[in-house]
Amino acid sequence: MVYNCINYILDRAFKPHCPLCDSPSSDALCPACFNDLLWNHTSCRQCALPLTDPGSDLCGHCLQGRSPISRSHIPLLYAEPIDRLIGQFKFAANLALGKTLGQLWLAHQRHSIECPELLIPVPLHPNRIKHRGFNQALELASVIGRELAIPVDHKHCRRLCDNTPQAGLNKLQRRSNIRGAFEIKNGLNVSHIALVDDVVTTGSTVNELARQLKKTGIQRIDVWAIARTP
Ligand SMILES: [Zn+2]
Ligand SMILES: [Zn+2]
Repeated sequence: MVYNCINYILDRAFKPHCPLCDSPSSDALCPACFNDLLWNHTSCRQCALPLTDPGSDLCGHCLQGRSPISRSHIPLLYAEPIDRLIGQFKFAANLALGKTLGQLWLAHQRHSIECPELLIPVPLHPNRIKHRGFNQALELASVIGRELAIPVDHKHCRRLCDNTPQAGLNKLQRRSNIRGAFEIKNGLNVSHIALVDDVVTTGSTVNELARQLKKTGIQRIDVWAIARTP
């Protein structure tokens, strides 16, 4: 009995387990859980909005040429069980799940991306960082950047307003809520970057940040995130 208990503790401490079903797994998720995820396969090339027409690779908004974003790589739909993992990572400060989510993104996306010169995590307001203890986007960018050998910059973009959290607002409210929310410092001498975030909902936040960054002369801005709301 004691032997079994010790074995169990050692097993839990030193062997990686799937965070969804708890079976031993050396990958981010076990193959069964990985295959059960809801993938965002048919989506807009620029903003990753899930599309109903598989014949087009752009949504109506992006077809009008209004998006400052060139390419979005957001492999999953924000639905069970990935919403649960993101929630535990973000709101219960389970930082190990940040690594799991970063590895999931890499497993699905690393062969389809054009590497940018720099990753920029979507900044949080200092008040929110104080409350949460970390910026989830920076955690994800660090995991992905380390693996792909792309530097991560979290010094040049600052969030100025600790305004109403975006959750619960509709698309129009989000757009006006986020306008002017970022300050970009001089000195970003790059032409291609990727913004990193955990979830993209309406796209208002990444669009506003990309719009501000484009004014500094950056030519191409991509978005790398884990999940997109349908
Ligand atoms: Zn599993
Ligand atoms: Zn689009």
